[in-house]
Amino acid sequence: MLSCPNCNSKDIGKIGINQYYCWNCYIELSVSHGMINTHQVEEDGSLSSLDDLFDEDERRYIL
Ligand SMILES: [Zn+2]
Repeated sequence: MLSCPNCNSKDIGKIGINQYYCWNCYIELSVSHGMINTHQVEEDGSLSSLDDLFDEDERRYIL
């Protein structure tokens, strides 16, 4: 079960292939190579990475 690395919520919606959205803190998550990548959606619709905010251990996605 995927949980948000930012807020630990499990209230995650699937928005695409390997793409998820956290309804609790409103960030986008994508999973690739066993890691969760985190993105914030900016006002202009672009994505900025939040990965620098988390340790690799927090972003590791274990199936
Ligand atoms: Zn969250």
